[in-house]
Amino acid sequence: MIIAVDGPAASGKGTIAKALARHYALPHLDTGLLYRAVGIAVLRSGGDPSDEDDAFRACAFDDALLGEPGLKSEAAARAASIVSAHPAVRAALLERQRAFAGQSGGAVLDGRDIATVIAPEAQAKLFVTASPEVRAQRRLAELAGHGLAVTYDHVLADIRARDARDSGRGIAPLRKADDAMLLDTSELGIEPAVAAAIALVERTR
Ligand code: C5P
Repeated sequence: MIIAVDGPAASGKGTIAKALARHYALPHLDTGLLYRAVGIAVLRSGGDPSDEDDAFRACAFDDALLGEPGLKSEAAARAASIVSAHPAVRAALLERQRAFAGQSGGAVLDGRDIATVIAPEAQAKLFVTASPEVRAQRRLAELAGHGLAVTYDHVLADIRARDARDSGRGIAPLRKADDAMLLDTSELGIEPAVAAAIALVERTR
């Protein structure tokens, strides 16, 4: 079974995808990490994330980068959302994601375009969302947990800017697939959100 989990930043999609992978004993790929790795690799090479050639070259990043805690930073997120708008970058990362989705036994993938582009054949498609304010609160708590002092207004503005970039780009924009099931986690804690996600997946079995 392939489970596709899409949604905006801090919607809870990553936590839900991990929990679904555990529940169904499936391998999990956080595809955002790939774009974050490209974003960080461009910055480290002194390149410009908004330059398509620079970003494309960074797609040959060393896989060791995927394990670096720096990938979780807001700087990496911002660079990721810029490089991810380049068609050459999306094409370079496509096969790796498709191969992961196509492995025998199935997989859980989370991102922005899993149900629409990477694995439209997925049996279960979830679109996880929450209000920008709730997502900003969550991200703020997460950053504070890492000892980073940022303001709520700054985080909210960042989330809105990333939403606009991800939804407004010409290629593989963030959008709910027509046949995806919507899960709004604005009023849900982690456990009820995971339970709701499992209940939605069960409907497809
Ligand atoms: O999910 P995460 O916040 O780690 O993703 C970082 C950025 O990578 C997103 O804002 C988005 O621009 C990009 N991304 C994407 N397609 C995916 C996953 C992430 O464009 N499948």
